Amino acid sequence: MQTADLDELLKHHFGYDTFRPLQREIIDAVLAKRDTLALLPTGGGKSLCYQLPALATPGLTLVVSPLIALMKDQVDSLRANGIDAAYLNSSLDARDAAACFEHLERGTYRLLYVSPERALMPHFLAQLPRWNVTRIAVDEAHCVSEWGHDFRPEYRRLHVLRERLPRTPILALTATATARVRDDIEGFLQLDDPRRFVGSFNRPNLTYRVFEKRDALKQLLAWSTARPTESGIVYAQSRTSVEELARKLAAAGIAARPYHAGLTPRERARNQELFIRDELRVICATVAFGMGINKPNVRYVVHYDVPKSIEGYYQETGRAGRDGLPSECVLFFNGGDAAKQRHFIRQIEDPSEREQADRLLRKMLDFAAEPHCRRASLLRYFGEETHAANCGTCDNCLQPPDEIDATVPARKLLSCIYRIRANAGFSCGAHHLVDVLLGNATEKVQSWGHERLSTFGIGTEFTKDEWLALISDLLRRGLVEEGEHRTLRLTRDGLEAIRDERTIVFARPRFLKKAAKRSRTSREAVMTSYEEALFERLRLLRKRLADDQGVPPYVIFSDATLRALSARKPKTLQDFRATSGVGDVKLERYGQVFLAEIVTYDEAR
Ligand code: ADP
Ligand code: ZN
Repeated sequence: MQTADLDELLKHHFGYDTFRPLQREIIDAVLAKRDTLALLPTGGGKSLCYQLPALATPGLTLVVSPLIALMKDQVDSLRANGIDAAYLNSSLDARDAAACFEHLERGTYRLLYVSPERALMPHFLAQLPRWNVTRIAVDEAHCVSEWGHDFRPEYRRLHVLRERLPRTPILALTATATARVRDDIEGFLQLDDPRRFVGSFNRPNLTYRVFEKRDALKQLLAWSTARPTESGIVYAQSRTSVEELARKLAAAGIAARPYHAGLTPRERARNQELFIRDELRVICATVAFGMGINKPNVRYVVHYDVPKSIEGYYQETGRAGRDGLPSECVLFFNGGDAAKQRHFIRQIEDPSEREQADRLLRKMLDFAAEPHCRRASLLRYFGEETHAANCGTCDNCLQPPDEIDATVPARKLLSCIYRIRANAGFSCGAHHLVDVLLGNATEKVQSWGHERLSTFGIGTEFTKDEWLALISDLLRRGLVEEGEHRTLRLTRDGLEAIRDERTIVFARPRFLKKAAKRSRTSREAVMTSYEEALFERLRLLRKRLADDQGVPPYVIFSDATLRALSARKPKTLQDFRATSGVGDVKLERYGQVFLAEIVTYDEAR
């Protein structure tokens, strides 16, 4: 198909002016009827890779998707653009399903979404050859693989589609990239000499930061209250902390609710729904949350506890900023958390499982302590080299930490732990230790006679915060470990470090006070308060329309489109159409009412 034609279709149906990386190439392969494997990161725009071809050629595109909750969303979004689409899954009653089959007989739909269970039903398979299926898309294709994070046995049987429709090309899509998963997809789906497209896993609109975790609850409240109108996900490890965080945020005036496997399915579905509809600002969740939401305007993801692996971290942070607008990923981390995780891992009985868990955690901890570009570090983990020396959007690039040679202070600290133990026969906690180093003759110090230790007052070169950060660094490196009641003791390696010649480099951490403040991104730098207020108004209008139609707000327009509208302030329908995200059907449906809102606002100013 001619380039101009595809560009026109893209604008006409979806309102976009340009393709995202690889979309165009994938679409060309699909239109050339090749089997195709497309690996694009979350937010890369995978759906468009089968939706646009479905509109460029006659016939039906069959889309297999494991996420029932998402199908309705996808279909609503397509219909909002005037595209005839439907879904078939267990959520439909018999009557609606029968109506859908009738439409399929008549050939009205361009796209049909089905769950894998449905796609494998004999009745469905028997009808299939009559519907002029020109293309099959298998979404979340990594589900065929046990190596992925979301194995679905039914996906293994999807090759029956190939047997039923031997000449229909298949497009497999996923955001999960390892070579094993890739091989599994091609094998189990029986792809025939597929074209492969692998996008970069870089998410340029995400900012990565790690904060020294201190008074974590206070840090979180500061973070979220500084962003009262933005949607965020807060991941924590346990159900109890998820519950507590949601409660505390709500008490601070942030609409927040919990999500974890201990809630009833109804409560979970309800909280998720409220979040998707922009009625909750924040969802506090265990890792159970995330698959199956594609809310595009999640502006931040906070990890309250350190994730178990970089894979998990990348997946979870990946839920931020699908719409391409700047979004933030924050990890709260300290050495104590690292020690706690290590402790959990030691309880794993199966040795190979334990080793695996340990290996994954180690990588995650290295990432958390990374003194250089975090984006480069993430990408390197997934086998991608980056060339930019400074990404400009991670904490270390924005504000390089000063790395200092901390060999002497570290030795002082280790010796102090050693002395206390030798002298008193017991270990003490971090705060007491720092008091001794700083020469603070607190009541506790005096009652134990620690002011007489040779290490008393030898550490005035650091502040209390810096000593605590150094302790957490040494915990992470395994020179120190935590015993009962969080007391500190030396490991064998720590004992050696007192004597040997090693240099200990320490990246002085940034503390959160500064960090909670909104950092102005380039987008915001150009947004005036006037535009900000207009954006809020358009958001309210969108919410009203969405509620009337019973769809999530982003089905009407994305945040990116509302941002563009408030910056451009179109005065005519023609201007309005020139905005990214405004296709012809949306122009017709919403053009007038949004223009009116912009004009009213302009006049009232
Ligand atoms: P994925 O499934 O790869 O995570 P989606 O298909 O959900 O990503 O797309 C993410 C977002 O990007 C959606 O809001 C979609 O409308 C938008 N999008 C897709 N392609 C483009 C494009 N070419 N230009 C602008 N926005 C796009
Ligand atoms: Zn960087």
